[in-house]
Amino acid sequence: MHLGMSGRFTIIDPTQKQKPGTFHHETGGSSLHDHVVFHLENGARIIYNDPRRFGFMDIVPRNTLESCRHFKSMGIEPLGNALDGDHIRAVFEGKKAPLKAALLDQSLIAGLGNIYVCEALYRSGLSPKRRAGTLSSKRGAMQDKADKLADIIRDVLIEAVEAGGSSLRDFAQTDGSLGYFQHRFRVYDREDEPCVTKSCAGTIKRIVQSGRSTFFCPKCQK
Ligand SMILES: [Zn+2]
Repeated sequence: MHLGMSGRFTIIDPTQKQKPGTFHHETGGSSLHDHVVFHLENGARIIYNDPRRFGFMDIVPRNTLESCRHFKSMGIEPLGNALDGDHIRAVFEGKKAPLKAALLDQSLIAGLGNIYVCEALYRSGLSPKRRAGTLSSKRGAMQDKADKLADIIRDVLIEAVEAGGSSLRDFAQTDGSLGYFQHRFRVYDREDEPCVTKSCAGTIKRIVQSGRSTFFCPKCQK
């Protein structure tokens, strides 16, 4: 199942009175856009709602998942054991593309979106404009950067999952409420605000790279 741009699953369980938590925003979600409803044996319903209809569902035998058309050109899972400094060094080797673009390339590492790449680069002190290939260096000041970046990517994603994701657009929890990670952005969507890194007097800048906004601190991201 792919959520596309605006797909959303909501679980309606009449036996479950308590919701997982309380959230700042409530979402509407017109039932006009409920395209698929799963009726479970226990009476619960899982509803797939998708106003923009870019989402899709497909049935694939489990043993062909890796090679099926949806996954075969995808890179490694950032939360799996395969993501480490060695992987980053190997796939970025010789790459002249900006680091930001290389991290968004789903064939190298799958599942990293714009927000999380901005946050991870900020926490790593790496400029989004730096050539991706420079992270392959095993010498000098760059030596440990790929290891550190791999750890930070994992930290950012785990933090976001625990906070319930980000809700800048239409994504929501399975109970219909929106995620909370956006309250923890350190750099994303903070153009012209002071850098939050202690001892840094920088100001967050916004630039556009491959059509997407990049937020970064030119002072502490090199
Ligand atoms: Zn800074």
